[in-house]
Amino acid sequence: MWGGAKNRWIAYALGCELLAVVATGAALATGFGGPVRPGWFAVLVALGVAQAEMSRRIERLRRWMSGQTHINVTSVWYLAGVVLLPPAWVALLAVVLYSHLWVRVWRQVRTRPAHRFVASTAWAMLSCFAASSVLAVLGLHGTPLQTPRGLFALCLAAAVFELVNVGLVAAGIYLYTSKRSAADLIGTWEDNAFELATLCLGGLAALALVEQPVLVVFVVAPLLLLHRYLLLKQQLQVAAVTDEKTGLLNTAGWHESATREHARVQRRGTGGGFAVLMIDLDHFKRINDTYGHLTGDDVLAAVAVAISGSVRQGDTVGRFGGEEFVVLLPGIGRADVLAIAERVRVAVGELNVVISTGTGTVRVSGLSVSIGVARYPDAGPTLDDVLRTADAALYRAKEAGRNQVAV
Ligand code: GH3
Ligand code: MG
Ligand code: MG
Repeated sequence: MWGGAKNRWIAYALGCELLAVVATGAALATGFGGPVRPGWFAVLVALGVAQAEMSRRIERLRRWMSGQTHINVTSVWYLAGVVLLPPAWVALLAVVLYSHLWVRVWRQVRTRPAHRFVASTAWAMLSCFAASSVLAVLGLHGTPLQTPRGLFALCLAAAVFELVNVGLVAAGIYLYTSKRSAADLIGTWEDNAFELATLCLGGLAALALVEQPVLVVFVVAPLLLLHRYLLLKQQLQVAAVTDEKTGLLNTAGWHESATREHARVQRRGTGGGFAVLMIDLDHFKRINDTYGHLTGDDVLAAVAVAISGSVRQGDTVGRFGGEEFVVLLPGIGRADVLAIAERVRVAVGELNVVISTGTGTVRVSGLSVSIGVARYPDAGPTLDDVLRTADAALYRAKEAGRNQVAV
């Protein structure tokens, strides 16, 4: 955290953590919110741990694949806890379940720093604490849930939990990443529908625990199913925009990204710009004719790596089917585009692809590409104009003898 994060994030994260610890400690010391109920606490810990264990594999995959989801199926047990436990003890429930998740799932996920997980824990604690405090202050703790008053308490708790959590998380994401769009900060409609479904299950779990604890089993199955659905959805989303042969974006994925960049540049008005490189392998048919299609596929994958390695991290690289690649370079000047296109051309030329086949290894080298370059806004106001211009430039590069860049 000290090394990489923004100061404002550090201040916010530490502030939330301090508040969570102080509030929990003070509530424990003063017995705020009524008597401790160790039985309920133990039951909820056991249920939360059991559920996390059952979905551990799914969870790890999901966390690993998703960029910034803040959906957490463990919130089922927090809502039940909010209704059944005093504030400090729900906050402790969050600590226990998050610690378990850390040890069993997150620790193995190296893509995200630990301090973000600690901050998430503090947000969960504060959301639980706030929701439970509202019930305690209004004297709604322990109201029989099947009465209208009890139902009101349940809905109120869910609403407070959700609002506080969304607010804390949105502020955190903003301070950490500076992202501003609603989808980034508070999630998509679907994310929130999922969260609502989780909270509904939490309400049912609370009801079951009070009335007939065995019934809580009926909550676990839909919960695991929801979880699995979420994973599947993410896999489908990734597959829909990914080119299978090379791992680059496919045509649809590239267009989606490029359209977003085009809209961003247009919104910002004058000054900005982006460039498109249209890259086509020269005489690729010969490779297929000489070595076969499967080897041709491996060459395509190697070329994809060479292209990605020659451009910056934030550039959008896609494969438009066949042996044609496209790169979008945001925020780049005219002179730099040519240098990068040249770098891509040289990188492909230097490729020495070693492919093991059933009958031994083949070496493929001496590849070359022709590259057509166009820039927004010089080429025209729409993305289509830019693509068409880059394609025309590519055609000229081919006409002029291949293995070269044309603008
Ligand atoms: P040039 O572009 O220099 O004019 O010659 P070329 O031979 O590369 O041109 P053309 O576009 O006519 O042929 C493209 C070839 O790429 C046709 C096909 O054999 C091969 N190809 C297209 N898609 C794939 C693929 O997914 N895998 C493999 N192995 N080959 C492909
Ligand atoms: Mg070609
Ligand atoms: Mg082609």
